[in-house]
Amino acid sequence: MVRGTGGPYAMSVVHRAIRRGELKAAAEHQCADCGKSANRYDHRDYNAPLRVDPVCHSCNARRGPAIPLKGYFEELFSGKYMLWPRRKKDATRMLAAMGVDIDLSGAPDRLKFEHWLPFKEVLLEWDCS
Ligand SMILES: [Zn+2]
Repeated sequence: MVRGTGGPYAMSVVHRAIRRGELKAAAEHQCADCGKSANRYDHRDYNAPLRVDPVCHSCNARRGPAIPLKGYFEELFSGKYMLWPRRKKDATRMLAAMGVDIDLSGAPDRLKFEHWLPFKEVLLEWDCS
């Protein structure tokens, strides 16, 4: 089963918890970042699908991408999953959150698959860590 970065998987875990009454709906909270009404949950790490913060739309966008599921890079490099994130800015933030030391400064702002290839070994190692 291809799970990709794990975003849809993590959201399905959250929605199930809300349906079971184990988690309040995001709209019942205030945004963890700005204090306005929250309207969604944000993940920082899709490997921990129930570790979420209620946020508003604009704070969610500002937070950038979550850490992908372990196994994501194996899927990516075997061609089972599309490249994500494509923006260098987002990729750089994601890699920093993962604790992986990869320098994308020489790559263009819009990343292509070829820009990830030099780091294949490091990323596949992260998958298994
Ligand atoms: Zn906010």
